[in-house]
Amino acid sequence: MALDEQQIAALKARACADIDARAGDLIEASHEIHAHPELNYEERFAHDLLTTAIERAGLPVTRKAYGIDTAFQTNVGTVGLNAAVLLEYDALPGIGHACGHNIIAAAGLGAGLALAAVAHDAGGRLTLMGTPAEEGGGGKVEMARAGAFKGVDAAMMIHPADRDLARMNAIAIQQAIVRYYGQAAHAAVSPHLGRNALDAAVLGYMNVAALRQHIRPTERVHGIFTKSGEKPNIVPREAEMDWYVRSDTIETLQPLKQRVAACLEAGAKAADCRVEMMWDTHAYADIVDNVPLLDAYAANSTSIGRPLTSAYLPGTGGGSTDMGNVSYLTPSIHPMLAVAPRGVSLHSPQFADYTKSKEADKAVLDGAKIMAMTVIDLWTRAELQHAVRESFGNGEVPAGVL
Ligand SMILES: [Zn+2]
Ligand SMILES: [Zn+2]
Repeated sequence: MALDEQQIAALKARACADIDARAGDLIEASHEIHAHPELNYEERFAHDLLTTAIERAGLPVTRKAYGIDTAFQTNVGTVGLNAAVLLEYDALPGIGHACGHNIIAAAGLGAGLALAAVAHDAGGRLTLMGTPAEEGGGGKVEMARAGAFKGVDAAMMIHPADRDLARMNAIAIQQAIVRYYGQAAHAAVSPHLGRNALDAAVLGYMNVAALRQHIRPTERVHGIFTKSGEKPNIVPREAEMDWYVRSDTIETLQPLKQRVAACLEAGAKAADCRVEMMWDTHAYADIVDNVPLLDAYAANSTSIGRPLTSAYLPGTGGGSTDMGNVSYLTPSIHPMLAVAPRGVSLHSPQFADYTKSKEADKAVLDGAKIMAMTVIDLWTRAELQHAVRESFGNGEVPAGVL
């Protein structure tokens, strides 16, 4: 819809006022989810809390969306560009909301409710998505396979961090469980009758250790032993390892996986054992940020007094997220908001404390406002829509994304 600058500013002001009016409820939602940490695909408390809040605001909501018990979706509007705001709400084993997904959920809820109230006047469509199981379960990948991102023109979420960042340096990852099978025998009486599965695993591990010198400096391969035998006087008949293989992009991940697999298989061959490699059915792709959309986000962030300390850092290493997969399906951004002092790492018990702090509560409201304003820009500015589409490319989806 063609609106002038004054009208766009008025819509943004309405959205921000809506978020301020709901501040108490949004912060309470963040704290409640924080107090009830739930693991991958078990986020029933968060699912019910968020869907009830959406319904109370007078919006329709599909619970258990796409056949996933803890996913949900709300659609608003019938014309215009369809912008998706994504909510994560899963936690980590042992350390609860140490990734601060309670903040993502509450900020997304605030943005969604505020946008629903102005969607008609702005001429846009909104898809509010509850996306479970980011911490390893590939919730967004499952939703994407079920068609969740067909017809979505752009997607965004915010993530807490130790500073305000335009983007997260997320690289591609795939996990593999590797099992070796040998032959049990008495380790002292008749070792010659045994075939040692632990030897096979150790040799495989050493092969990967040698490989690590000759992969890109930005790639990471790291594994642990999860099963090594039953008793020292029994030749181990079964050994198991858990491996993470990470590369810069989903495309460079494929050849690296093959090299790692060759190392692990060679261990089995040397020890005359059998090996089974079970790759996780969800690879997480790197994030391809949509720069024009990020520019709009950065401008809105600055407008409420949160200039981004790091713009478009290339960086090395980094974690992984299934938002990366979404970024290959539709123009996406995954900026980060400071809730903790610099240097406090995600996935630490310290960070879990900060995700219910005053800074976290402010990030809920600021994140909601910045996303709402960015969606309003996207709905109302034809040149931004054009730039977002152009920069996305032809939309070809590389192997491993879905
Ligand atoms: Zn995390
Ligand atoms: Zn996270």
